[in-house]
Amino acid sequence: MAIATVNPATGETLTTFAPLDDEELERRLQLAEATFRTYRTTSFAERARLLNRAADLLDEDRDGIGRTMTTEMGKPVRQARAEAAKCAKAMRWYAEHAASLLADEVPDPRDVADSGGSRALVRHRPLGPVLAVMPWNFPLWQVVRFAAPALMAGNVCLLKHASNVPRTALYLEDLLRRAGFSEGCFQTLLVGSGAIDAVLRDDRVKAATLTGSEPAGRAVAATAGEMIKKTVLELGGSDPFVVMPSADLDRAAETAVTARVQNNGQSCIAAKRFIVHTDVYDAFVERFVAGMAALTVGDPMDEATDVGPLASEQGRADLEELVDDARRSGADVLCGGERPDRPGWWYPPTVLAGVTREMRIHREEAFGPVATLYRAGDLDEAVLIANDSPFGLSSNVWTRDEAEVERFVRDLEAGGVFVNGMTASHPAFPFGGIKRSGYGRELSGQGIREFCNITTVWHG
Ligand code: NAP
Repeated sequence: MAIATVNPATGETLTTFAPLDDEELERRLQLAEATFRTYRTTSFAERARLLNRAADLLDEDRDGIGRTMTTEMGKPVRQARAEAAKCAKAMRWYAEHAASLLADEVPDPRDVADSGGSRALVRHRPLGPVLAVMPWNFPLWQVVRFAAPALMAGNVCLLKHASNVPRTALYLEDLLRRAGFSEGCFQTLLVGSGAIDAVLRDDRVKAATLTGSEPAGRAVAATAGEMIKKTVLELGGSDPFVVMPSADLDRAAETAVTARVQNNGQSCIAAKRFIVHTDVYDAFVERFVAGMAALTVGDPMDEATDVGPLASEQGRADLEELVDDARRSGADVLCGGERPDRPGWWYPPTVLAGVTREMRIHREEAFGPVATLYRAGDLDEAVLIANDSPFGLSSNVWTRDEAEVERFVRDLEAGGVFVNGMTASHPAFPFGGIKRSGYGRELSGQGIREFCNITTVWHG
């Protein structure tokens, strides 16, 4: 795949970038290693000063970088600006909290005495250069949610971004330099995915994080496993959105629409499977389908647009295949389902009912604005359908019954349970999945400790 900016709204290739040659890649790896030697000794206060400065610069750049993201991957420009604002907030959050999240832990004195020691503590030291392999769908946020804690922990970052968002990748490198981080603290490696195996095998690279698809995660984790390097994997999702009879149906349906089509439907934590109790099925579906059909699909640069194009031609073809497979196997298309005849990679908001286990869309991730509906007779059946997925990223449940909430929290196989609201990430809460959605956590204290050398210091 060429490293290029291609406008998904028109299909036009705007700029193509030559990948780094071996010499330049080597120079950058050397620089990362050399920079780490000194950067690791900087204080939290110094790192926080730089990260806060980056947040301020990002706020100033919001309109420009928002338009760049929209041009590269097609998200509505309103949402692109909101993404930039969210990144600045996460930077400030880690700048403020990293020192306390990574403060020395002091064990119970009785345990210290029991170990035969006089004193002990646990210190969180940085690991070194960490490779981040990142996707295009939230091209700023996915990187920042890794880089902000990594930099605050004293690590240095090597970014291999998706090949279709090179300008956003270069912007990030430039932003952190303008903020005052030295050149080797954060480097963008403009390389194709074929170059990643060798980078990961390089002794100077200590760990890796990947956000992306299952095949990419498997490839990176396999090499990292061979090299005994720590990885965090944030992979796909097919989150359930369960609606029970006591739910506020108007709010649930309105949120369901947003949860499905945010980011043109290309979000790992988008609600994708809508599991509705039979008592409220018809009432919910009527509202939900009306909401999906009423969305404004159009130019992502237009402030009024709700849904823009998909990010790539291949992405649209994959989504279309899932819908066609379901339709052939008997699913009812309640709205959408036909691509419009225009340049660019458009696909309309679509709702499928009568989805069965045999259909590919039941087990695979629909990465675009396509919702599937399921009817559940009771809570047990709702849980059964929700868990009948290879993925386990997050989940959404709508009910006003506390006993039902407890059952969902106990039984749903996912890294998050969001009650009467849609899944959204926040710097203070851990983010990540189970099953084939990956492992490890980002954000919060859990996230910043993933790439630390958690060191026991013991005194006799
Ligand atoms: P992707 O094709 O897996 O690409 C992600 C990154 O991995 C890109 O930088 C890509 O580089 C690289 N890559 C691909 N194959 C690789 C390989 N064999 N070895 C090393 N690197 C490789 O995924 P995507 O299409 O960009 O993103 C969509 C997927 O990401 C969806 O499944 C979505 O659910 C998931 N996602 C998960 C989360 C989460 O937090 N769990 C968040 C967002 C997205 P190239 O671009 O050069 O191929």
